[in-house]
Amino acid sequence: MSDLLDSEHLTGFVTGAYVVAALLFIAALAGLARHETAKQGNLAGMVGMGLALVATLLLAAQKAELLGERSLVVTLGLVLLMMAIGGAVGAWRARTVEMTGMPELVAVLHSFVGLAAVLVGINSYLEYEGYADGVHDVEVFVGVFIGAVTFTGSLVAWAKLSGRMRSAPVALPGRHWLNLAVIVASLVLMVWFVRLDGDLGLGLVPLLLMTALALLLGFHLVSAIGGGDMPVVVSMLNSYSGWAAAAAGFMLGNDLLIITGALVGSSGAILSYIMCKAMNRSFISVIAGGFGSDGATVGEARDYGDHREVQAAEVAEMLAGARSVVITPGYGMAVAQAQYPVAELTRKLRERGVQVRFGIHPVAGRLPGHMNVLLAEAKVPYDIVLEMDEINDDLAGTDVVLVIGANDTVNPAAKEEPGSPIAGMPVLEVWHARDVVVFKRSMATGYAGVQNPLFFKDNTQMLFGDAKDRVNDIVGALG
Ligand code: NDP
Repeated sequence: MSDLLDSEHLTGFVTGAYVVAALLFIAALAGLARHETAKQGNLAGMVGMGLALVATLLLAAQKAELLGERSLVVTLGLVLLMMAIGGAVGAWRARTVEMTGMPELVAVLHSFVGLAAVLVGINSYLEYEGYADGVHDVEVFVGVFIGAVTFTGSLVAWAKLSGRMRSAPVALPGRHWLNLAVIVASLVLMVWFVRLDGDLGLGLVPLLLMTALALLLGFHLVSAIGGGDMPVVVSMLNSYSGWAAAAAGFMLGNDLLIITGALVGSSGAILSYIMCKAMNRSFISVIAGGFGSDGATVGEARDYGDHREVQAAEVAEMLAGARSVVITPGYGMAVAQAQYPVAELTRKLRERGVQVRFGIHPVAGRLPGHMNVLLAEAKVPYDIVLEMDEINDDLAGTDVVLVIGANDTVNPAAKEEPGSPIAGMPVLEVWHARDVVVFKRSMATGYAGVQNPLFFKDNTQMLFGDAKDRVNDIVGALG
C-alpha cells in the first residue's frame, strides 16, 4: 500500500483516471439523450463514477499517509464506512422508489449536494483561514451561497412534490424586493469577508450571516412557485446543484468535481430552458421565482355547469365505431399502473383497423419523459407515441380522445382564462375532438389545483374509477 501511495506515478494515474472519467460522463449525457442508447449512457456514467471514486480514494490515502500510519487507517476507515452506509441507503431507496416518487427523490438528492457544498465551504475557510488569498475567499463565499440556496430550495421542492407542503405559491408582498435585498446584503457581506481575511475567527461572522440569508432565500424562492411550475423548478435546482458541486471542486482543488459540476449545471440549465419554452414561461422569471402566479387565484370557484357520466361498455362501443383514437395519458395512468391494459387496448383497436395514437404533453406525469418510459415499458410502439406539437393539429379531426389520468395538461383554462394560474401554458387541445372520455376517480383538481372546464364541455363524458380497472373493463367489453 505504502509503495503504491509513495509512487510518483500516483499523481499521473489520478490525472489520467480523471480525464477518462470526465470523458465517460460526457458519453453518459450523450447516451441518455435517446431511448435506444440510454442503458449504455447509464453504464458509461457508472464506470466513470467508479473510476473517479477509486482515484479520489487513493489521493485521500496519499494525503493521510503523510500524517502517519494511524491517520491513514482512520481516514480510509471513515471514508469506507460512510460509503458503505450511503451506498446501502441509496441502493435501498433506488430499489423501492415508485416511478411517481422519483422527482421527490431527485429533489432530496439535490439538497444533499447543496448541504455538502455549504459544509465543504465552511471547512475550507477554517482550513485555510489566515493564509488564503482573495480568490479562495470568493470561491468559498460563492460556493456556500449557491449551496445554501440549493439546500433549502430543494427541501421546499421535495415538501411540495410529496404533498407535505401546499403546492400553491406563497406570495409575500414585495417578494422580488426581498430577494434583491438578500442578494445585495450578501454582496456587502462578501466584501467584508474578503477584507477580513487574516483576522482569525472574525471571517466566520459574515460567512455565517450570509449562509443564514441564503438559506432563507432558497426557501422563499421555491415557496413562491406554484405547483404547476414545479417541473421547471426541479430541473433548475438540478442545475444549481451542479454549480454548487463545481464550486466545491474549486475549493477542494479537484478538477473532476469542477468538470462534473459544470456538466450537471449546464445540462440542467439547458433542460430548464427547454421546459420553460414548452410551458411558455420566461427563464428569467423562473430564476427570480414566483413566476406565472401574479394575480392568479388557485382553484378559483366558478360554476361551469354539470358534467356527464359514462360507463365502460358505452365507451367500448364508441371506440369500436371510431376511425381514429388519440390517448392522452397523465399522472393518473402512472398511479394506476394502467399502461399495460392501455397497451392491450391499443393492440385490440389496431387489430380492428382503428388508428390509435398517443399525445404526450412535455410535463405530463411527475417528471420529464415519465409517460414515454411507462408506454415503452408496456411495449407500445414508439412510432405511434407523438409529442404534443405533433398531434395538436390533428385533434380536431379525431373521433375519440381518451384522457387517461391527465388533468392540467388538457385544461382549456390555459388558453381561455387569462387569470388562471396555468394561463399561457401550451396544452393538448383535446376538446376539439368529436368525443372526449376522461378517466379519473372523482371531480378533484390536478396537480396545479386548478378546476378543469374540459370536464363540463358538451362533448366530454367522465368515466369514473381507477384507470386500470376501467381500461380493463373496456378491453373485456371489446371481447
Ligand atoms: P395532473 O396531476 O394534472 O392530474 C392527474 C389526474 O389523475 C388527476 O386528475 C387525478 O384525478 C387522476 N388520477 C389519479 N390517480 C388516478 C387513478 N388511480 N385512476 C384514474 N385517475 C387517477 O396530471 P397531468 O399529468 O395532467 O399533469 C402533470 C402536472 O404535474 C402538471 O401540473 C405539471 O406541471 C406537474 N408536474 C410535472 C412534472 C414533470 O416534470 N412532468 C414534475 C412535477 C409536477 P382523481 O384524483 O380524481 O382520480
